[in-house]
Amino acid sequence: MKNAALRAIMPKIKEMLDEGYDWNEILIGIKADLEAALPKTWAKYEQRIEEEGEREAFMNTFLQPLQYLYYSPKIKEFLTLDQVMDAAEREMFGTDNPGFCIACGGEHDSCEPDASFYECYDCGQHMVFAAAEILMRGMVS
Ligand SMILES: [Zn+2]
Repeated sequence: MKNAALRAIMPKIKEMLDEGYDWNEILIGIKADLEAALPKTWAKYEQRIEEEGEREAFMNTFLQPLQYLYYSPKIKEFLTLDQVMDAAEREMFGTDNPGFCIACGGEHDSCEPDASFYECYDCGQHMVFAAAEILMRGMVS
């Protein structure tokens, strides 16, 4: 996945989010851009459709990387390093497996330390990451 090509599409996505479109509508709006900008990834996506179905294939190939690119820099708006460190310590020394949704900030349990892209039951996006994973990816500082 070429991040530069994805980044080039981000302004259009931000604009559509600002205008109130949801991610499903946005994906329909950017399909042609993705196909033009990422022909190799697009070819892989078309292969995956047969195995995973169109929705899963699109989500795994394009939606998750785009949402990650969009949401991960925003996590600092609602999560502090202290909160994530505290959650990671609870995981290490207790029985909790805390994680956070980087799209809505919701805290979740049942996230093993390397959990990533789990479904959030609050907002429906697959943007839940374990606290330890958030630290490892350097999303909070
Ligand atoms: Zn969420």
